[in-house]
Amino acid sequence: MLPSLTGQSPDALAAWLEQAGQPAFRAKQILDWIWKKQVTSIDAMTNLPAALRETLATSFRLSSLEHTHTQGSEDTTRKFLFKLHDGRYVESVLIPANPALYGESSDRRTLCVSSQVGCAYGCKFCASGLAGFTRNLDASEIAGQVLAAEQIGGDRVDSLVFMGMGEPLANLDNLLEAIALITGPETLHLGARHLTISTSGLVPQIRKLAQHPQQIRLAISLHGATDEVRSKIMPVNNKWPVNELFDALNDWNARKKQHLTLEYILIKDVNDSLEQAAILAKRARAIRAKVNLIPYNTVEGLDWIRPSDTRCQAFRKVLRDAGITANLRLEKGHDIDAACGQLRLKQETEEGIISAPAR
Ligand code: SAH
Ligand code: SF4
Repeated sequence: MLPSLTGQSPDALAAWLEQAGQPAFRAKQILDWIWKKQVTSIDAMTNLPAALRETLATSFRLSSLEHTHTQGSEDTTRKFLFKLHDGRYVESVLIPANPALYGESSDRRTLCVSSQVGCAYGCKFCASGLAGFTRNLDASEIAGQVLAAEQIGGDRVDSLVFMGMGEPLANLDNLLEAIALITGPETLHLGARHLTISTSGLVPQIRKLAQHPQQIRLAISLHGATDEVRSKIMPVNNKWPVNELFDALNDWNARKKQHLTLEYILIKDVNDSLEQAAILAKRARAIRAKVNLIPYNTVEGLDWIRPSDTRCQAFRKVLRDAGITANLRLEKGHDIDAACGQLRLKQETEEGIISAPAR
């Protein structure tokens, strides 16, 4: 399998051109075609000599993703399914605005990006965890989702959330390589402040990322304010319990300017008691975090239930009364299986790559 051009850093491309006996200025031309003009074939790079285009085509693929499917929804959220070179699938979701970040009237476009095929962390409520872990995505497969979304959608993506399939911090090296492509001035050039990494709470990697020089945002999938509740639905909590996690978040705060976000899915009779809300409020205040409440998105094959709207609002009120910024996330894409991993699970099950999830 040829390496893809979208996975080449400017330095790697410059080194390749040098050993191919090509002048250095070709690097900028090629990067412009890939990332700025966003062509879909090497042949379309018309200011390169034909011989160089031929050498490029025998040495590289242009992209490592094949777009196979777009699913739309009533609220104009769109979900893209991509086939990878080994026949596996990943998905990205384009969300017209992220009201939690920008307010309801914004026309900003947020892309939800996958970082792995499957996930090894096995959270009990999550479609991505259902079929286990297959492999890490490489940098071109991660950054390529953004490029592909811009090509398909015909418009720039303004911000990214690493909340698709997989645990991004379990694939930290490739993730950082992808972020270099996404934020680099010669490549996609999106500001680091517009990137949010979501993690289920991998403490050593949070500490490592805290030392990264770019101002990337961090969101924590908390989903339980105490060890008792969190451990029931997130096995990762047995390894890094809530107090250890919050120690790492304090360390993050000491090094970073941006406020942390706590993500909290509301699941009926599991983590939606007002007592949990009160503890969550204390925890959020201790690290100056805002809270995103997400009513559980039903996953086929799983029995968890979303609480009533009244209960979700009562939960939010406890947080707000305690002075915490708490959004109750407006449904985006509920009707297109937008919760992470669901479309890919469907596709791979249909193709017999994985067997249907057991109840
Ligand atoms: N592994 C990372 C990022 C991917 S999951 C993490 O766990 O943070 C992105 C978000 O979707 C997480 O907050 C996750 O808990 C949430 N999620 C998973 N399944 C969901 C569901 N069925 N309904 C609503 N949110 C879900
Ligand atoms: Fe993995 Fe995140 Fe899903 Fe948990 S919620 S199984 S960490 S993708």
